Amino acid sequence: MLTIVNPADGRPIRELPETSAADVATGHATARHAQPAWAARPLAERLAVLRRFRDAIVAETETLAATLTHEVGKPIRQSRNELAGLLPRLDFFLDATERALATETVFDDAGMREEITHEPLGVVANISAWNYPYFVGANVFAPALLAGNAVLYKPSEIASQTGLRIARLLHGAGVPIDVFQTLVGAGAVGAALLEQPVDGVYFTGSVATGKKIAAACGPRLVRLQLELGGKDPSYVCDDLDAAGIRNAAASLADGAMYNTGQSCCSVERIYVHERVHEAFVDAFLETVRGFVVGDPMDEATYIGPIARAPQLAVLEAQVADALAKGAVLRTGGHRLDRPGNWFEPTVCTGVDHTMLLMRDESFGPVIGIQKVGGDAEALALMNDTSYGLTAGVYTADAARARALLGQVRAGSAYWNCCDRVSPRLPWSGVKDSGVGLTLSTYGIQAFTRPKAWHLRRG
Ligand code: NAD
Repeated sequence: MLTIVNPADGRPIRELPETSAADVATGHATARHAQPAWAARPLAERLAVLRRFRDAIVAETETLAATLTHEVGKPIRQSRNELAGLLPRLDFFLDATERALATETVFDDAGMREEITHEPLGVVANISAWNYPYFVGANVFAPALLAGNAVLYKPSEIASQTGLRIARLLHGAGVPIDVFQTLVGAGAVGAALLEQPVDGVYFTGSVATGKKIAAACGPRLVRLQLELGGKDPSYVCDDLDAAGIRNAAASLADGAMYNTGQSCCSVERIYVHERVHEAFVDAFLETVRGFVVGDPMDEATYIGPIARAPQLAVLEAQVADALAKGAVLRTGGHRLDRPGNWFEPTVCTGVDHTMLLMRDESFGPVIGIQKVGGDAEALALMNDTSYGLTAGVYTADAARARALLGQVRAGSAYWNCCDRVSPRLPWSGVKDSGVGLTLSTYGIQAFTRPKAWHLRRG
């Protein structure tokens, strides 16, 4: 049995039966059997199914949001935001799939015609993270299903109720039960899924688990995508006026602390030009001190509990290490003395790259702000990381932003913004942040195999 615990008070919410290894194997067999008929349906039918799923999300937003808040501690307004943000993603897939999967004629003369068709892979495994279960789940299952695949979905063990609700809504919308299956459980269930001869593995989660997944898949040479963690930097330039500094501080405080800092693309490191450092830090602290910490079901709450209890020790260790090495604690820095998993919004200045706080993913409401002397130093520091998911620059000068961001090794580049994902743009990481991509038309084709047609006339 899997016990779902409310991270806001440490109380068990529900017991769920875990999917056994035998049931994982049966699930794979039934998905394998059902997939060809699903793929044979006209695309228009699969699009209609996804449209009905979208309608169901709209109709059930309040209960879905409450379930998400109870199991992962996401503040209720942010749970609603996630569900609202799912709609434009689904709209993008509904709009772009026909175009992305259309047969392409790449050569045509009197004797020879060459075409590319996009064929479904077959049965794909979708092993997912808990922090944005609707976003990271749908980035995979929506285009995978539209492209004609069957999906074995292993939500994070701590977002299992949400994973089961997603299945119920997809089935209600018309996805055959065997074509989308939710497997309930922790890492062992994910590992059992990888033992099945699936045709693609799409993983979202930590670097440590991503490396295990890659090792498990290695001998089989299966299609593999890994969307992993980040240590995302942002640099505030010296050309901002007072209003620009306040805007940058508000934007970056939100980027660092939204979802209680538990986003793959949370701002995790901030570099500020020495000429504006003091003003920026003052404005940043003012914003952070205004964040309401409290019951995630309360409408006013901005910072909720940490979803996973062991992460509290990681945050404590990062802060202790930074302070031991000379950082200055400007606010927060401690667990809250109450039931559940709580950590104060925390800001350190005087940090440097000897500190864990500036090197390892924090995945919580803690941030280090480092003073820099200029663009070259900022750029070198932004690239001094094993990660490469996103990076940002705040400046009034578009050319300066483009020059800097062009040299940053990251999948996404932000000018005067942060912590942003667009369905129209590819979502990917370099280095330890991942392999492959989701979203954009490339992220629809990612669930297909291009087939080459050589058609000689006569
Ligand atoms: P995690 O690695 O602990 O777990 C992810 C999933 O893998 C879960 O479903 C888990 O049950 C499963 N799993 C664990 N061990 C496994 C094994 N041996 N074999 C197969 N499956 C296994 O990650 P998490 O705590 O759920 O998510 C947080 C991490 O995810 C952070 O590092 C965050 O940055 C990252 N993330 C990345 C993106 C992105 O798009 N790049 C998006 C969201 C989260």
